Amino acid sequence: MDLNFFKFCSGLKFLGYLMILLVAAITAVSYYAVVLLTWAPRISHGGFTSFLSFLIIVLFHLLLVMLTWSYIMVVINDPGSVPENWKPPSQENLEAGPDDNTSASTSVDVPENRQALGYCRHCRNGKPPRCHHCSVCQRCVLKMDHHCVWVVNCVGARNYKFFLLFLLYTFLETTLDVIVLLPSFMKFFKEATGHTNSASDLALTFLTFVLNVAFALSLLFFIIMHASLLSSNTTSIEVYEKKGVVRWKYDLGRKKNFEQVFGTRKALWLLPLFAKEDLENIPALHGLDFPTCSDDES
Ligand SMILES: [Zn+2]
Ligand SMILES: [Zn+2]
Repeated sequence: MDLNFFKFCSGLKFLGYLMILLVAAITAVSYYAVVLLTWAPRISHGGFTSFLSFLIIVLFHLLLVMLTWSYIMVVINDPGSVPENWKPPSQENLEAGPDDNTSASTSVDVPENRQALGYCRHCRNGKPPRCHHCSVCQRCVLKMDHHCVWVVNCVGARNYKFFLLFLLYTFLETTLDVIVLLPSFMKFFKEATGHTNSASDLALTFLTFVLNVAFALSLLFFIIMHASLLSSNTTSIEVYEKKGVVRWKYDLGRKKNFEQVFGTRKALWLLPLFAKEDLENIPALHGLDFPTCSDDES
């Protein structure tokens, strides 16, 4: 039987649109449970409760704005594509790596011989260093990290920072939800027949709490994983290439590795934006050219 894996992969694109709806639904339910149901009514209680409610509501909205902003930026920004008829500056710069990759790291196509390296047979174009062909997007993506179904986009050179900020703010928001819903969650067991909230409201709070715990824990896992990748200037795909290598050629030291993704302007590190100078001075942010540790030594 001749299975066309590419057809299957492009189906993931449609799953992505459902994921956007799912993200919106989880956000809406959390907003209802945390803000409207639990903390907004307490703002008029006076004293410390009012102050705490105000603080939680402000923090919730601030994180919501930041995560939505980062989310939109990672969805709408092109991770980077290879210019037409791109050719490597020199033969030495040819990249030696696996040909195809998807988020599930299923290698659909393996180059038959070394001549195929540095050239994509699907796009019929040259392949810059750290670039990989995405089977879902059906094109080559610069410094491809993975294809993310949650953002219906590939994560690569030009939107990796936005993706990391989205992870961070979503983690902080879900952790905040867990902490501020904890008293209501405990109340669910103590007085399920209580008179202050309706049974459906308590059930919704319970569901929101469980969903947020699940998301906070999975996001924590991804944050730890990407922090480790970021500190060594490696993409999720390159983890396999890096195995057995004594010194990873793109590892420029922790600070420089961080700047290769987040830029040098500290004021913009926590915002899904880049300074104009950084876009001009850091080639890695464009995804065609990457400094290596051997450049550093020379
Ligand atoms: Zn390609
Ligand atoms: Zn993709």
